[in-house]
Amino acid sequence: MSVESGFSHLLAPLDLGFTTLKNRVLMGSMHTGLEDHKKDFPKLAAYFAERAAGEVGLMVTGGIAPGLRGSLMPSPSGLFSRLQVPRHKLVTSAVHAADGKICMQILHGGRYSYHPLSVAPSAIQSPITPFKPKALSSKGVEKQIQNFVRATRLALESGYDGVEIMGSEGYFINEFTTTHVNKRTDQWGGSTQNRYRIAQEILSRCREVAGKDFIIIYRLSMLDLLPDGNSWDEIVEQAKMAEASGATLLNTGIGWHEARIPTIATMVPRGAFSWVTARMRPEVNIPVITTNRINTPQVAEDILARGDADMVSMARPLLADAEFVRKVRLGRPEEINICIACNQACLDHTFSGKTCSCLVNPRACRETELNYRPTKNVKAMAVVGAGPAGLAFATVAAGRGHRVSLFDQSAEIGGQFNMAKKIPGKEEFSASLDYFRGEVERTEVDLQLNTCIAAEDLAGYDEVILATGVYPRKLDLPGIDHDKVVSYIDVLSKKAKIGRRVAIIGAGGIGFDVAEFLSHPDDHDPSRDPFEAFASEWGIDVSLKARGGVEGVKAQPPKSPREIWLLQRRAGKPGKTLGKTTGWIHRLSLRHRGVHMMGGVSYESIDDQGLHISIDGEQQCLEVDHIVVCAGQVSNRDLAESLEGRGLSVHIIGGAQKASELDAKYAIREGSELAARL
Ligand code: FAD
Ligand code: NAP
Ligand code: SF4
Repeated sequence: MSVESGFSHLLAPLDLGFTTLKNRVLMGSMHTGLEDHKKDFPKLAAYFAERAAGEVGLMVTGGIAPGLRGSLMPSPSGLFSRLQVPRHKLVTSAVHAADGKICMQILHGGRYSYHPLSVAPSAIQSPITPFKPKALSSKGVEKQIQNFVRATRLALESGYDGVEIMGSEGYFINEFTTTHVNKRTDQWGGSTQNRYRIAQEILSRCREVAGKDFIIIYRLSMLDLLPDGNSWDEIVEQAKMAEASGATLLNTGIGWHEARIPTIATMVPRGAFSWVTARMRPEVNIPVITTNRINTPQVAEDILARGDADMVSMARPLLADAEFVRKVRLGRPEEINICIACNQACLDHTFSGKTCSCLVNPRACRETELNYRPTKNVKAMAVVGAGPAGLAFATVAAGRGHRVSLFDQSAEIGGQFNMAKKIPGKEEFSASLDYFRGEVERTEVDLQLNTCIAAEDLAGYDEVILATGVYPRKLDLPGIDHDKVVSYIDVLSKKAKIGRRVAIIGAGGIGFDVAEFLSHPDDHDPSRDPFEAFASEWGIDVSLKARGGVEGVKAQPPKSPREIWLLQRRAGKPGKTLGKTTGWIHRLSLRHRGVHMMGGVSYESIDDQGLHISIDGEQQCLEVDHIVVCAGQVSNRDLAESLEGRGLSVHIIGGAQKASELDAKYAIREGSELAARL
């Protein structure tokens, strides 16, 4: 059944000759951690089946190694033995039963592999792994090629609809194709033809074993983002080679993992790299797929309507909402739970060895464990606090059939998310609030704003949920009541007009965010194209004349309107507690803006002169106009205390429950899990 929709390009089928994809959405490869253990394959099958039922045109698995040496981690998330076929069949049968299609990504980690058996074209260690790879002999290269071919044969046997050969992001094949780490002088190094030979051999031999009715996607590094990356002409040559060697589809890869330019984090503008794919599209005769920071149906539709690509790849957006495509087809795009590109529960988990999930959708990768089933025992519930924890609880509980009233003393829902969304580069947080606003309506939560709840208001409810959040921590410091001292709330709500010289006490997530907020111009220039500003700040050549897209291009970060000191008591450089995959971007962004970041600071006092501190026993005064306190939080338990002894069934969640190490991932997950149980 089809429903009228304004997304005709996105929903158009794609005929590949031997098979037809039902729409233009590819779910890009994401390592979930479920691939790593045989026992987790039933969960992996449920995860993919749910997305197939959500009508994604084609899905790609997380990276599957073609052999032990190519494994990213020491654990065997690979396909190199017949014994591994049955577990992969669980996945393919579940997907096919849900009328979906799935390709297996063959990923050889090369020098990015996190174990001592890693191999690469040359023995050059990567800056992001602790192991130096072994340079392959000619025989060794041949062995790795054969492994790709074996993985393709086994993928076919496992029932996959195709494979994606990973040739980008600085992994094994990409290491051969650029001179950055390929220093070989044999037939696998030197000229472009020699460097590309490995991709050509892998593609043509995989096509040979797979036959013609099997999808082969080649993920090509279209922009290496390294000074000695490939030139555009060389990349086009590689694309033509891939087509001639049997690739069915050409996917876009942007940037090596070691490149110090953000490519998918939340500050990257939506659809920021589709222009690269657009330049490639006329060069080849096979469909091209574009990728990176495409997270709404409108962004995807616009890209396709402009003709930048034949398909769009979205990965994290399908973690955030398995029903993304189905909701578009049914004409309900506003119901999509949007990925805010925070990386907090997906990539940060993957790189810490934890199973991947999603901040806005804690069910992701837990489809067999966390389910929101209709209740048989309808209760009256009061939820105090419409921050992320309260919103998640209220909407899930009401969705299950409970009668839920949600109260907040503010005039809008969202709690601290209303501050987060004001940080330059974190505007996506407002998309999450839009989603929750819709969910509150759809699940018929009785929302009462501008309502400060006291203990006596809660009599008569079967369950009371306190999601009252946090208070900023107050400091005990001589001069803390001085007019110069403000809280981050005063800054972000623009209650205080902040001067030209500012010290920030506390360099956690909020301290960094406040530094970002104060180092951007106070008045945003709406005429400036966000992508142009991004490319200029990070030094990307949009004309594609520079090698790797960056060679010789000077990054031009905007000047901060303020001189800012970001301080912490802990020794060492601030920023160590930030997200694993995004912390470096925050640190670099502030460095670009000239923010002074100092650790090992003792705060002495505040007076008219400024903030007096000492570092290693040496006293100094930061002569600043304002001191912003971002020194963490304490739980708001006021209501919890006054409810004690009243005989109510009370549950405390989110920041009200735990202030240290609190974040929205924790708040949303806790709210959702409690709502699934009650
Ligand atoms: P809150 O969001 O604090 O919500 C509590 C709500 O309770 C408030 O709306 C309040 O008005 C209401 N309330 C309190 N008492 C009463 C009462 N008696 N009656 C009625 N209503 C009441 N987290 C991340 O994970 N990633 C980020 O990138 C991130 N960035 C941030 C940036 C900033 C600038 C800030 C300030 C926070 C950021 N956070 C981030 C933290 C995240 O927003 C919090 O962890 C999360 O909001 C906590 O959710 P909560 O529901 O527990 O509490
Ligand atoms: P936080 O990350 O715990 O940082 C608190 C900071 O205050 C630390 O730098 C701490 O460092 C300092 N501090 C603590 N007690 C102090 C004291 N008594 N005197 C002086 N300094 C003190 O907390 P937050 O910045 O308030 O953030 C709240 C939560 O929101 C965090 O859990 C964070 O994960 C989340 N958040 C996340 C992001 C993100 O990008 N992922 C962004 C914003 C917020 P020292 O003790 O070394 O001085
Ligand atoms: Fe997107 Fe954040 Fe969810 Fe990852 S955790 S899928 S980045 S919303």
